[in-house]
Amino acid sequence: MPHVITQACCNDASCVFACPVNCIHPTPDEPGFATSEMLYIDPDACVDCGACVRACPVDAIVPHTKVAAEQLPFVEINRAFYPERPAGVKLPPTSKLAPILPAAEVPQRGRYPLTVAIVGSGPAAMYAADELLTQPGVLVNMFEKLPTPYGLVRAGVAPDHQRTKLATRLFDEISRRRGFQFFLNVEVGKHLRHADLLQYHHAVLYASGAMHDRRLEIDGMGLPGTGTATEVVGWYNGHPEFADLPVDLSHQRVVIVGNGNVALDVARILTSDPDRLADTDIADYALAALRDSGVQEVVIVARRGPAASAFTLPELVGLTQVAEVVLDTEDHARVRSDLAALPADGDHLTRQKLEILAKLGDASAPITRPRIRFAYGLTPERISGDGRCTAVEFTVTGSDQPRRIEAGLVLTSIGYHGTPIADLPFDDAAGIVPNDGGRVIDPATGQRVAGAYVSGWIKRGTNGFIGSNKSDSLKTIQTLAADYNAGLLAEPVGGPRSAARMVHAHQPDVIDAAGWKAINEAEIAAGAAQGRPRVKFTRVPDMLDVVTDHSDVPLLQNLLGALRRR
Ligand code: NAP
Repeated sequence: MPHVITQACCNDASCVFACPVNCIHPTPDEPGFATSEMLYIDPDACVDCGACVRACPVDAIVPHTKVAAEQLPFVEINRAFYPERPAGVKLPPTSKLAPILPAAEVPQRGRYPLTVAIVGSGPAAMYAADELLTQPGVLVNMFEKLPTPYGLVRAGVAPDHQRTKLATRLFDEISRRRGFQFFLNVEVGKHLRHADLLQYHHAVLYASGAMHDRRLEIDGMGLPGTGTATEVVGWYNGHPEFADLPVDLSHQRVVIVGNGNVALDVARILTSDPDRLADTDIADYALAALRDSGVQEVVIVARRGPAASAFTLPELVGLTQVAEVVLDTEDHARVRSDLAALPADGDHLTRQKLEILAKLGDASAPITRPRIRFAYGLTPERISGDGRCTAVEFTVTGSDQPRRIEAGLVLTSIGYHGTPIADLPFDDAAGIVPNDGGRVIDPATGQRVAGAYVSGWIKRGTNGFIGSNKSDSLKTIQTLAADYNAGLLAEPVGGPRSAARMVHAHQPDVIDAAGWKAINEAEIAAGAAQGRPRVKFTRVPDMLDVVTDHSDVPLLQNLLGALRRR
């Protein structure tokens, strides 16, 4: 029986290269890979060897015989990606394996081996380090402003998606490799500038992501009771910058504007039974707030129709497995009309999404437990309220017919947006650093910015999934390696010990791998006592206290590490 890819698919394509018969598509070299919502196994071509299962970093692949009840829709989702054909007939390309791009070789040119500073420690940063460290001798110093690494995998992925967070196993393994060093609790732009880093590295690769959200400029945003879904994501995930966010759940209804995957995550968490979250790594204060919550309905509002829903099919399937999701009569009619308008050979993902929406319950039914309602075709005009928000005023999109939805909490969820990076050019409209294949380009001169590279959301914009960053970072590293091999990168003025001294001089509270290990182990130990994966520290001073308590360990390891690398 074939294997099946399920909801947690991260798109990093490790499975594609592990598969001996090329039955997983789209492959990174095929059109559509960059925008694909997940990868799919061709059930007719799969030889059931299980190589993909071992390669998947997030345990998303299961044999057909072990598919859990809630994963059953993925059997059809995998199959539907491939064209209909007579039973037993395989597709022609199954004998051709997906081409593996050769690793970028970087023979040492000067006194020091290629030494790269990576700014950020999320998926794009870790995949870039992974690629660099395939080459012997290469040194990677990773700078992260928080005392804890892994970016949105720690602070963005929802706590009830623990399988997706398994990507940290791979990241842990990368960070333990020879040549890798963490400099946590160091903010580039505050403690250090680009020029400081460039003195001690051949190149600086910025993979700092796009932590901030796009803002909806309508009257009333800013009233108490308004905010953004991404802030709430940071809040329930214990991100120190959002730990004090005032999230008032005392009202019956929450409105979320925008219907991407972030909106689905927040709606699902706000309507979850707190007992379902109690064995996750959700921040303690958030779990307590959810236990006291009065929220009975979260309305996710889109300005366009059902066929244009921004959420992905795997996330919609996952949502409907765990939450009660409804539509009102008008929106059920919109779904039927979109389904009828879909050409027979139309996009199979849209068809599958619409078919799921068509089966949702009716919003006129009495509310028996906290539920989610999708609403369509409403353009937000203003937030109303006297002193605090009480409702959102919409018009029916394309008309001036008013609609009003009462709500005590209004969150906008209209996408993330990159923030400018000190010393680098910035394209504010696109929210990215201008670049050519990852090499930062100053649009004013058309010239490269010395030693500066980008990867991930700050390079390409806020799209894709955790694993999409693997092929993206690989391309940047190939550009960087070509520049190094062409002699375009200046030699550092000192080796690893001088670099570490420079960082300590700018930020005495820098945390290294041993410090992170102490924080990580303390969190895991606290979690084990409660049957949870970890209990997160949510305040930086608490994290620093744990590191200080283990301060003899980092000092010794720093010295040993520096001596080893000399
Ligand atoms: P998104 O997918 O880009 O969705 C943005 C939503 O905001 C769309 O519904 C969009 O509607 C709406 N919108 C934009 N401007 C608006 C305006 N002025 N007024 C009203 N609505 C407006 O953004 P996201 O949910 O933040 O996700 C960002 C990325 O992270 C996506 O690639 C997503 O898949 C990924 N992500 C994935 C997961 C997961 O796999 N579990 C979880 C979280 C995030 P229009 O379509 O009409 O513009």
